[in-house]
Amino acid sequence: GWLFFLKDITESEATHPALCNRQRLLEQALDGAIQRRELALHYQPIVDANRAVLGMEALVRWQHAGLGLISPGDFMPIAERNGKIVGIGQWIMQTACAQLAAWQRAPHSRHWQLSVNISAREIYEPTFFEVLQDTITASGVDPAGLKLELTETLPLSSPDQVLQRQLRNLVDQGVQLVLDDYGTGCTSLNYVKHLPVSWLKIDRSFVDGVLDNSRDQKIIAAILALADSLDIRVVAEGVETLEQFDYLHRAGCHAFQGYLFGRPLPADRLTDRGDANQLA
Ligand code: C2E
Ligand code: CA
Ligand code: CA
Ligand code: CA
Repeated sequence: GWLFFLKDITESEATHPALCNRQRLLEQALDGAIQRRELALHYQPIVDANRAVLGMEALVRWQHAGLGLISPGDFMPIAERNGKIVGIGQWIMQTACAQLAAWQRAPHSRHWQLSVNISAREIYEPTFFEVLQDTITASGVDPAGLKLELTETLPLSSPDQVLQRQLRNLVDQGVQLVLDDYGTGCTSLNYVKHLPVSWLKIDRSFVDGVLDNSRDQKIIAAILALADSLDIRVVAEGVETLEQFDYLHRAGCHAFQGYLFGRPLPADRLTDRGDANQLA
């Protein structure tokens, strides 16, 4: 509840003053970051069982002149709290759709799909779906190439009819919904029940232990069984080794993402095959 929220802030102010100063610094620096062209999208390949590229996930990067490269895990939560995520999210979607439209015009990348992360704060913004629709139209992108990655932290335990209808409208245009970080939230089944989801993305925390932790193995097996019975496909994130890939492939995952196949890179550093351009 709110009381705990306030308590958390006070406690972290008291116990981590340095951290808090950094947060304030980041918050100020985030002002005008788009105008100063400090944000960029990097793209990480998602591959099938034959390691052929199915598409990319867009991951935002913030390069600040004084503060250096700031990871989205550090600044997106701040942007989410102060509402700047709305403008940043719109920039991300415009940039992503422009890139996807360009890929759709090139023969080697015609069928690539592009996953874009959407936070709870963005999707509950009253204008979110209108702006997204305008962005799709203006970019000329085929919406069938677009995937929205939703995290389970969306407060959807009491499913909102309006949100469901708006998401269904996108799905009717070919947009695919992915439940991100699957297994880490506590309302997983509610999401699967109420949203027209095409993919579950198994969180990296389960993939990490997949070779030696039998609990992780059983959780992954359960996610795959659920997905199979509902005709939902499964993508595993954070795949770093051939052994993890082999295990997940044999277990029945449909798609794979991780450093084993490629790190997130700027679009101009991807080869036609979608991997790293060693010459760049
Ligand atoms: P996520 O959506 O779960 O993204 C996966 C994260 O794992 C990314 O970190 C990615 O670079 C990293 N990763 C990929 N493969 C591997 C691997 O093999 N090993 C390891 N150790 N890590 C791997 P990143 O780019 O720092 O993003 C962190 C989080 O920030 C994302 O988690 C997502 O929640 C958020 N985020 C990133 N870009 C965006 C965005 O454009 N919009 C929104 N709303 N959130 C974003
Ligand atoms: Ca994601
Ligand atoms: Ca994750
Ligand atoms: Ca995530």
